[in-house]
Amino acid sequence: MSAGTPRVDACIEAVSMRFPSLTSTTYFQEVHQYITPLARQMEREVADLLEAKQVICAWSPDANIESTWASSCGELWSFIDGDPKENRVSFCHHCGKRVELKGGA
Ligand SMILES: [Zn+2]
Repeated sequence: MSAGTPRVDACIEAVSMRFPSLTSTTYFQEVHQYITPLARQMEREVADLLEAKQVICAWSPDANIESTWASSCGELWSFIDGDPKENRVSFCHHCGKRVELKGGA
């Protein structure tokens, strides 16, 4: 078994245990039949992880400095006039993630 792919390895081993007398051709057909649903499940899991990774950068008004917003990536942003929405802020200047405003006017 190769390291790092325990689910695929377990699937292949389960097929070979279940069908010990298979020829190599039918063995690969059987493995393919069992690997396909596993591969599809893994693909969905990867897509979910990638989607979850694209988190937002939350901006909230700084408690001490007027017209200043604190980002969840650790930066402060001040606006001469208006808030981030009025200044059409869509993405964080520091981390590049989509900005979501928390609290404030
Ligand atoms: Zn940020």
